[in-house]
Amino acid sequence: MTKQINGLKNDFKTCPMCGSNKIENHGNRKWICPECGFDLYNNVAAAVGVVIRDRYNNVLFEIRAKQPRKGYAAVPGGFVDFDESAEEAAIRECREEIGVEVKEVKFLCSAPNTYEYKNIEYKTCDIFFTAELPPQFETIDDFIKSLKAEESEVAGFASYKVESLEDIEKIPLAFESARYTLKKMISKE
Ligand SMILES: [Zn+2]
Repeated sequence: MTKQINGLKNDFKTCPMCGSNKIENHGNRKWICPECGFDLYNNVAAAVGVVIRDRYNNVLFEIRAKQPRKGYAAVPGGFVDFDESAEEAAIRECREEIGVEVKEVKFLCSAPNTYEYKNIEYKTCDIFFTAELPPQFETIDDFIKSLKAEESEVAGFASYKVESLEDIEKIPLAFESARYTLKKMISKE
């Protein structure tokens, strides 16, 4: 029996350890095998995003090259690796995705998110930081000309103005956690 949530299959039909078909699904959060004692928790995954903005309130976005949400806009970021801090992940993702060595990131806020990949629904806790636009660049558009996209992840770059709720609604954002974060950012100012 396969249970579906939002049309997605987050389930095992058989125990991955012993192959028993008696494995129990507890709300797609936990699986228990009564045959061998296998016990698996579906915990929230940590992910990061980095907001880079110029003095005119333009923010850097990547256009996603792959699913989920291919073609939509996201700030540079990704999943936190094993044995890595969120700050380290944020700096690494900037290095990998846009080819920029960010010196420092500052915590902005965090927000829950849902990430659908190959018919599996992952729940994440997205942790957002800000990073300074390198001083040699006046605008995000100037900055974009210098960036080197990681082709497997990034189809291109875009600059969107983020000054009002209306501005944020117009951005074709890949993930609601980024929308929440941008709203939070302008509400603090
Ligand atoms: Zn088992």
